[in-house]
Amino acid sequence: MGSEQEKKPHAVCIPNPAQGHINPMLKLAKILHAKGFLITFVNNEFNHQRLVRSQGSDTLSSLSSFRFETIPDGLPPPDNKDATQDVNIVLKSLHETGYTPFRSLVSKINASDTPVTCIVADFVMGFTLPVAEELGIPEVLLWTSGAGSLILYDQYPNLIEKGLMPLQDPSYLLNGYMDTIVDFIPTMPGIRLKDIPPFVRMIQPGDEFMVEFAYREIERAKSASGIIFNTFNELDCDILDTLSLMFPTCYAIGPLHLLEDRTVSKSLASIKSNLWKEEPECLTWLDAQKPLSVIYVNFGSITVMTHDQLIAFCWGLEKSNHSFLWIIRPDLVIGESAVMPPEFMAATSERGLLASWCPQEQVLSHPSIGGFLTHSGWNSTIESISSGVPMICWPFFADQQPNCWLSCNKWGVAMEIDNDVKSDEVAKLVIELMDGEKGFEMRNNVIDLKNRAEEACTVLSGSSVCGVAMEIDNNVKRD
Ligand code: UDP
Repeated sequence: MGSEQEKKPHAVCIPNPAQGHINPMLKLAKILHAKGFLITFVNNEFNHQRLVRSQGSDTLSSLSSFRFETIPDGLPPPDNKDATQDVNIVLKSLHETGYTPFRSLVSKINASDTPVTCIVADFVMGFTLPVAEELGIPEVLLWTSGAGSLILYDQYPNLIEKGLMPLQDPSYLLNGYMDTIVDFIPTMPGIRLKDIPPFVRMIQPGDEFMVEFAYREIERAKSASGIIFNTFNELDCDILDTLSLMFPTCYAIGPLHLLEDRTVSKSLASIKSNLWKEEPECLTWLDAQKPLSVIYVNFGSITVMTHDQLIAFCWGLEKSNHSFLWIIRPDLVIGESAVMPPEFMAATSERGLLASWCPQEQVLSHPSIGGFLTHSGWNSTIESISSGVPMICWPFFADQQPNCWLSCNKWGVAMEIDNDVKSDEVAKLVIELMDGEKGFEMRNNVIDLKNRAEEACTVLSGSSVCGVAMEIDNNVKRD
């Protein structure tokens, strides 16, 4: 490698191998690259093959200063090469097996002429911290979920100690108990038990690992040089202040996709992180629709639903009489492929488009989109907020419940659908969102937040831009 590259700082970036984690990590890596870093981006082998299939290996290897490497995740590859891996199982396996291959990789890079000056790992990839410590490299962690949820995970011991969770038996899910207000959560007065990330609810097989994991990883993260959040000060100010009391240094440098748009070159921007192949025809279809006339429906990369829930959404959209773009992943419906009723397809053929994966950021910023029916994943939430699109939330798991609560109650940009979804409720909320007074109010609120997000990403003076500069300054080893 040339001497120019030898002088540059070199960040090794390692995401948690799930779509909603790879996306923000890749954006952060590109932003660091634009600030003069060499980047080594580390995927698990299975996802890397999916990325190669979705965009071709040439795109991924187009820049010598932005390289991809892989480590095994310790699991046999799924039979279906496009299957969504179970996030908990992969995480558990990586925590058991990831240390050795990651250490070998970093040591190998250190023996080259461009040694590692900084590790940027997903917050939940804490097995990388001992590697950083042993090799004397600073490490920062990226929290890719909503910042508020980190406060709630930290409250798990408190919830258990006070006997509020786990639930005694499943009947508690139905008897109104989940509406109990939890009055001791900093920055979230009025939050209900049902808004807490649900791993701690019943402690079913698999959740046990997540509950222990939350305890352990939060403690472990305190030894990192800093924690990066994909949010902006103006949105999450009080939450970030509280988190600053828990962790050494917190940086709010989002929305990362806005910063990416403002800082990253076209050649680098063409490297994408989609595990599924995008269907760009969605954008052509949107071009033909009236401004603010389309409700966009997408439940992200992990949410699954029953066939009955799918049918409730179908008929709710049909009854709303609004146009819709609905993204249905091949594995959205539990145990079967999503089959839509022919009557629904016939009734909505003039005003609905179904696709399996889309360029979401472009869809959300399209002028014809008037609302977003979402599962409240953090990326979807922040992408919607920074596009000025109000939401209807149907949260599924992890941080999605608190993201939904914050969107509805704190920021006033969303309405919630009951978990036991019914078509009449879907129709009512879609109509309210698109045509009602509440929808109008939410649109005003979200446009205000969109403007603030843009200000945060203003080159030189924006709060998120200054956050990036500080993070780089404080966390790069300078020999
Ligand atoms: N996404 C996309 N196209 C789709 C669905 C999702 O590009 O059809 C992207 C979306 O923009 C977001 C990510 O995938 O960046 C999903 O992350 P999120 O945190 O919203 O949800 P998760 O998939 O982790 O549940």
